[in-house]
Amino acid sequence: MRVLLHICCAPDATTAYKRLSKVHEVVGYFFNPNIQPYREYEKRRNALEKLSRAWDFNVIYPDYDPEPWFRSIKGLEELPEGSMRCKACMAFRLKHTAESAKELNFDAFATSLTTSPHKDVEFINDIGAKIAKHVGVEYIPSIFRKKDGFLESVHDSRELGLYRQNYCGCIFSLRNDAD
Ligand code: SF4
Repeated sequence: MRVLLHICCAPDATTAYKRLSKVHEVVGYFFNPNIQPYREYEKRRNALEKLSRAWDFNVIYPDYDPEPWFRSIKGLEELPEGSMRCKACMAFRLKHTAESAKELNFDAFATSLTTSPHKDVEFINDIGAKIAKHVGVEYIPSIFRKKDGFLESVHDSRELGLYRQNYCGCIFSLRNDAD
């Protein structure tokens, strides 16, 4: 199958890409308007460009426009990490990925978000399946962090010298990190 893989960051993409590309034709999709400020977005994008060059795969980089993302989490700004704000954020990114997969004639979409030990994989796979049904394109559920997937991602990103961020992405997570 041709799969559009939503990539949240280069370190998480390592395990996700490795595992998916064993059985599918995979193209990355770096859609993350949740990353602020812009210079941080650039750092994470540069890290992914480095990975895709090293491992020779293609990645699509849609325009960076955080305004629609801010609207999608409106009213949830002050909630803590792991709350409804994060669910809205992940659903927003997955919906956009699914719509692009459909538009670009991919058979399915997936996400590297499940490489992270901090993410609610049950929610991600549930919302991924619902979005897939709504948009009309297949979703590939995953728990990439399983079977040492997260450790493997740490190892691979160290070996490749990939930038690893120390906060989730949005200005609210940056603020909490600084507290
Ligand atoms: S903490 Fe992370 S998942 Fe939650 S809203 Fe911010 S960027 Fe999105």
